[in-house]
Amino acid sequence: MDADTFAAFIEQLNRFVRERLVAAEARLEALNRVPDDVFDEMREMGLFGISIPEAYGGAGMNVSQYIETIRTLSWAAPGFRAIMSINTGMVCSALVKSGTEAQRAHWLPKIAGDAIASFGLTEPGSGSDSAGLQTTAVREGDHYILNGTKRYITNAPFAHIALIMARTSKDNLPKNAHISAFLMPMDTSGVSVGKPDKKMGQSGSQIADIIMDNVRVPVDNVLGGEEGKGFQVAMQSLNNGRLSVAAAATGYARRILDSALRYANERKAFGEPIVNFQLIQAMLADSEAEIYAAECMLADACRRADAGENILTKAASTKMFASEMCGRVADRCVQIHGGAGYLAEYQAERFFRDSRVYRIYEGTTQIMQLVIAKQMLREFAG
Ligand SMILES: Cc1cc2nc3c(=O)[nH]c(=O)nc-3n(C[C@H](O)[C@H](O)[C@H](O)COP(=O)(O)OP(=O)(O)OC[C@H]3O[C@@H](n4cnc5c(N)ncnc54)[C@H](O)[C@@H]3O)c2cc1C
Repeated sequence: MDADTFAAFIEQLNRFVRERLVAAEARLEALNRVPDDVFDEMREMGLFGISIPEAYGGAGMNVSQYIETIRTLSWAAPGFRAIMSINTGMVCSALVKSGTEAQRAHWLPKIAGDAIASFGLTEPGSGSDSAGLQTTAVREGDHYILNGTKRYITNAPFAHIALIMARTSKDNLPKNAHISAFLMPMDTSGVSVGKPDKKMGQSGSQIADIIMDNVRVPVDNVLGGEEGKGFQVAMQSLNNGRLSVAAAATGYARRILDSALRYANERKAFGEPIVNFQLIQAMLADSEAEIYAAECMLADACRRADAGENILTKAASTKMFASEMCGRVADRCVQIHGGAGYLAEYQAERFFRDSRVYRIYEGTTQIMQLVIAKQMLREFAG
């Protein structure tokens, strides 16, 4: 997207976030889903297709623009990002990088438009150890038969399509070539969705199991038209997903700090606003500096991605830092609120619960540490 159009879009989005999304947060929470009128407005703004190339009906944003959009959107409650995050993040990235031309032409306009997507990697027995997944895909003529369960799948209750990672070989092959990726319409016979899980935070975003019982998927739906590329697809898509989580955490941290600063100005103790106390100022200053650091990391990682660099460790570092940072900022916000910070009546409590998952999904902090260290050791060994 050209720079002027993008600047105008961000200005419009900023207004939309503050005037419409923040105002709709109570309804998001009460309904535990994005209200239909807000969902329609998000779609009309083209938010579901921001990262999808223009040729396929999207806005054609580069990585920097896409991530700035997510950061801007994430001033509002995280449930609003979640409903479009899989379309614009992992599934779009997988199709653009690894889909065949026919697959891109068929699926990208759908996910830029009115189809909600899910990404199915995690299973009851495998999360961090994603290559250990047990869902099977067995070829039978011009179809594959899928059997297995995917767990904690974002948007599963609303999804129209899912990108499912399944094993096409019983053995764990070198470079994880036992895994393939399948584009699976959710209305295929044999697909069912479990009851949405009750979560700690992030109301409005729903996760559930996707259960596959002898699901027949045409061979044309193997991503990239080839077996054995699924793990690579998943890992490449996660780079993009990790930057999106980092942007979400950074954008939300700005909102949380704003709330802490407002409260510190309003609340009085010992006859004066608590913001006058230097120990309160220290918490505000630490938060400001850490948010700025995450913003700089995001900008650098995105610039490198747009320049075609492999950003595996930069995306992992940024995701790890931004998600941990958001947790610290949310914790300080509770502290600055004192007793009020522990009450559901104030937003600080919700911020604290909402921000916790950024350190867990799309690779836990420990897995990010392993990704970064592995690359360091490889480079050290020459
Ligand atoms: C709200 C939410 C939404 C999600 N959405 C999706 C989705 O859309 N699609 C999807 O596929 N998945 C999704 N997930 C799953 C998520 O990505 C996994 O929960 C996450 O990757 C961790 O896997 P796990 O839960 O199996 O934990 P485990 O892998 O069991 O890890 C448990 C603990 O052990 C640590 N650990 C594991 N291995 C190591 C190691 N080698 N060294 C050191 N420590 C280790 C972990 O860091 C963690 O602290 C979602 C999860 C949540 C909570």
